[in-house]
Amino acid sequence: MDLLFQLFLPVRCSGCKIYESSGFCPSCQNKLPKNPILFSIPPILEGVALSFYSPPIEQAIHDLKFKHQKVLGWTLGHLMGEAVQKRDWDFHCIAPVPMEKKKWKKRGYNQSEILARGMSKVLGRPCRNILEVLRSVSHQVGLGRKERLENVKEAFGVNQSESVSMRSFLLVDDVVTTGATLSECAAVLVKNGAEKVYAACAARHLLSES
Ligand SMILES: [Zn+2]
Repeated sequence: MDLLFQLFLPVRCSGCKIYESSGFCPSCQNKLPKNPILFSIPPILEGVALSFYSPPIEQAIHDLKFKHQKVLGWTLGHLMGEAVQKRDWDFHCIAPVPMEKKKWKKRGYNQSEILARGMSKVLGRPCRNILEVLRSVSHQVGLGRKERLENVKEAFGVNQSESVSMRSFLLVDDVVTTGATLSECAAVLVKNGAEKVYAACAARHLLSES
């Protein structure tokens, strides 16, 4: 669809399709679990996801990534920020999982960065692009846990202009599946002297095969 035309289309809720400027209406927000899903994938101390990867959040993440509904990044980021507020976590800054330049050029934005910026507003901590992609990573979809780990190994690095040593971070990604990407990003931060790493995602996707 033409991008300019899309700008003038009224936004509908991803879940129930009513007109809703935030992209995700209060009634669909109420369908999310009352308590966030907790996970721990070393070296990440603790992580939260708003919901399992199922409707209505599944559609919202899809619209954020593939339908240019950037407003959803702010809305979901806001909800993720509120979920993190309830945790007793201490971190200096919010760091989105980076996106490959080629992919960024095609999409025009990194959805994890928009989520992180939405969270930053709620949490009052800066969002910084601390991490960068060092090499191309093939699609993780369809891969098992072991292959995913292999696929992202040494794929990320720390942006040289950022200081990591003795700092704590909140990593942000849209979906966590096996956690291979988040775990590799956290490992890079720890290797560069980070003290603690936490994580927040919009949804947790469970792999059926492992
Ligand atoms: Zn709705």
